[in-house]
Amino acid sequence: MAEASAGLAVAIDGPMGSGKSTVAREVARRLRFQYVDTGAMYRAIAVAAIRRGLSADDPAALAALARGITLTLEPRPDGSARVRVDGEDVTAALRDVEVNRIVARVARVPEVREALQALQRSLGGRGDVVMEGRDIGSVILPQARVKVFLTASIDVRAQRRQAELAAAGTPMPLEEVRRIIAEDDRIATTREVAPLRVAPGAVVIDSTTLTVDQIVDRIVDLVERARGL
Ligand code: C5P
Repeated sequence: MAEASAGLAVAIDGPMGSGKSTVAREVARRLRFQYVDTGAMYRAIAVAAIRRGLSADDPAALAALARGITLTLEPRPDGSARVRVDGEDVTAALRDVEVNRIVARVARVPEVREALQALQRSLGGRGDVVMEGRDIGSVILPQARVKVFLTASIDVRAQRRQAELAAAGTPMPLEEVRRIIAEDDRIATTREVAPLRVAPGAVVIDSTTLTVDQIVDRIVDLVERARGL
């Protein structure tokens, strides 16, 4: 397969708070692969929508926004990326509460997804990469040699996200975090385009009772086995 010879792709999908970002970044660091966070791209569009005063319930405006902007990702030393929209650095705003609230509605607009697909596929086709999101193993990189679906109970996911928000200086009651995550799950699993589901060939890892190191070890092991084939 042409794509396979260009490098080894690892696709990690899963719902909000499943630990994907932490795990994917660590897998990439251990393997010296490039790390690509596709959620950050949807978040960047959500930030741009908020800054332009657009409604998350106006798909036509969101579609026009996604088609009209230039999104750039510059790798940073810690493996994450600096994200710019038309040159403006939006990295610090990506995890804002308001972004969490609206991003699922932004991501369900088909034109928004189309606008990001080409960028995601080109990053995924350039050598060894760990790409995380919701539709990486199913739609963006179906040829990925290693596919993982990371999940966890909603209570554990809510606790993790609450801790993250508190660490970022924006504490929120657990019930409110849980509600945002449940709504994100509902929209991601029921949307018409690229619904969140386990991709064919994906290994499901339930992270509820596993540590980050245990999950990373399992994924690195899957990559080593895929390399050995
Ligand atoms: O993973 P993260 O929480 O950063 O994702 C942000 C939002 O983007 C979520 O609403 C998620 O459903 C959406 N998303 C998506 N497809 C991707 C990555 C994220 O729809 N590949």
